[in-house]
Amino acid sequence: MSKDSTFFLTQLLDERRAQQSFRELRLPGDKVDFCSNDYLGLARNADVRAYIHTLMTERHPAHGSTGSRLLAGNYEWILSVEQDLANFHQAPAGLLYNSGYDANLGVFSCLGRKGDTIIYDQLIHASIRDGVRLSAAQSFSFLHSDVADLEKKLRNAGGNIFVAVESVYSMDGDLAPLAAIAALCRQYGAHLIVDEAHATGIIGNAGEGLVQHLQLTDQCFARIHTFGKAVGCHGAVVLGSEILREYLINFSRSFIYTTSLPPAALAAIVAGYAAFPYMKAEREQLSALIRQFREGLTAVELLAGNTPIQAVLTRGNDNTRKIAGALQSAGLDVRPILHPTVPKGAERLRIVLHSFNTAAEVDMLIKVLQS
Ligand code: PMP
Repeated sequence: MSKDSTFFLTQLLDERRAQQSFRELRLPGDKVDFCSNDYLGLARNADVRAYIHTLMTERHPAHGSTGSRLLAGNYEWILSVEQDLANFHQAPAGLLYNSGYDANLGVFSCLGRKGDTIIYDQLIHASIRDGVRLSAAQSFSFLHSDVADLEKKLRNAGGNIFVAVESVYSMDGDLAPLAAIAALCRQYGAHLIVDEAHATGIIGNAGEGLVQHLQLTDQCFARIHTFGKAVGCHGAVVLGSEILREYLINFSRSFIYTTSLPPAALAAIVAGYAAFPYMKAEREQLSALIRQFREGLTAVELLAGNTPIQAVLTRGNDNTRKIAGALQSAGLDVRPILHPTVPKGAERLRIVLHSFNTAAEVDMLIKVLQS
């Protein structure tokens, strides 16, 4: 390809550089992990790995799924894993997607029809925003976790109404006021959809998520659990009624037009979930580290939230990069979250704590951040 043919791309990239928001792919190296979503260390757990190998050899003769679920890519194991996930999460039915992104895109693009309304939290994940963009429904955001603003939006909504929230917000690490939101949805006859990506494996006795922890399963129209975080692998399940499952199989394009998850992915999902009930000590260690971090950091601006995602507001792309650079130099893998990923003035360090981090590592993190 000639240089000229990519000139328009170079121009756009130069604009990004000028805004100090150029994105690049980096390897973590051997730094302390304060970045990955592997909250419980299951992506590197030797027992889980051994179980994955056993499952892969025992459960299915092929290593590829060979097609879309509607063609050759449906197989017995995938159906039984879906039902097992639904049972674990106390839902009537579940449908697997290849990723959380695919699940949100596929659900939100097909549920709302012309005349319907989708109302979503202003901090909702990009995958839901993209699904909403593809939908024929009208859509509004409401102020982050602001129940009064949600009610205002509900009053003006028409048709079938869908409300989208996350149980743990991916950039701020705070919890949605889920009981109050569920009550409002009931009052206005709205369908509540909860993205449990960052609560899966973390909240609840066995990591069932916030909805089950608060006993709100009956109040949800759909729940999305993703496996790229605490489960330590890849994929997602949408939980809901049998009818919802049938609807998605028929209308959800990111489910229909793609090769289904391979058996290796199923093995990793099954092994990750099998470990959840035995991760009590890890969840307690994680809570202790979160407490240590929040109590130790006194001189910095920290967003609310007792979850593994801790957001330190550093404000400004330059400043945020500088502090992230100092942490990297100290051997700590913390990444800057810059504008335009977050609004101007909300640039931050997104620090992720894990059960395998040590108290000494968290102390070092606090020391560098306070210096
Ligand atoms: N929802 C939320 C809240 C997320 O944080 C993410 C991942 N960043 C996704 C969905 C997408 O999940 P996946 O990585 O499995 O595509």
